[in-house]
Amino acid sequence: MKEEKKPQLERLADLKSELIAAREAYLAIVHTAPAVEVKAASDKVKRLQAAISDCITEGAKPCPMCHNTPHGMQQTEGKYIGFEIGCLHCRPFKWADRTVREPRVRRGLLPRHAVEAWNEGPAAWWQRPKEG
Ligand SMILES: [Zn+2]
Repeated sequence: MKEEKKPQLERLADLKSELIAAREAYLAIVHTAPAVEVKAASDKVKRLQAAISDCITEGAKPCPMCHNTPHGMQQTEGKYIGFEIGCLHCRPFKWADRTVREPRVRRGLLPRHAVEAWNEGPAAWWQRPKEG
């Protein structure tokens, strides 16, 4: 029998626990272990960070400007908790209404909210006040 895929937020929580453990493992050996072991521990942290981003951005379209896969983050501190999706390659640009658009969306309460806003394209992206 095929195993049911866990709900997204449970998979995310699992990945975050793994990431915390992987970071601790890395910090425990970073100054003492042979370079090859330190690199393996560091690679594991990077893999888990990428897996977390992939989990958050499930269903997100590639960036409409550069066609790269967008990056997903969970903000857990400060005023703006929630999920954020953005392009790491594109810079802010001036939109038709002269506002400056950041190629990212912020503060989706759930990953799917941020994905939905991201998929709307620049019209829905985070904007700054009009310039000049
Ligand atoms: Zn881009």
